Amino acid sequence: MKKIKVLTDDCIGCGACVGIDPEHFTFNDEGYSIPKSNENLDSEALMNAIESCPVGIISFEEVNDEKEEETEETA
Ligand code: SF4
Repeated sequence: MKKIKVLTDDCIGCGACVGIDPEHFTFNDEGYSIPKSNENLDSEALMNAIESCPVGIISFEEVNDEKEEETEETA
C-alpha cells in the first residue's frame, strides 16, 4: 500500500502542510510535521501540501503489510 512519508528530521516546522491539509498532517510534540492519515491519498489538498513544503521532504512510499508493521514498531 502507499503511505505518506515525511522526513521529519529535516522539517523546519513551517506549518504549511498542516495548514493546507490537516487531514493528512499534524505536528509532533516538538512542532515538526508527521503523517496523520493514509486515507484519501489522491486528495487535492494533499497534493497542494506536498508541493508547498519549502524543503521538499514529503513524498509517498510503497510498503507491503509486513514492512508496514516494522515501520510502526520502529517509529
Ligand atoms: S511543509 Fe514541510 S517543512 Fe513545513 S511543516 Fe510541513 S513537512 Fe515541515
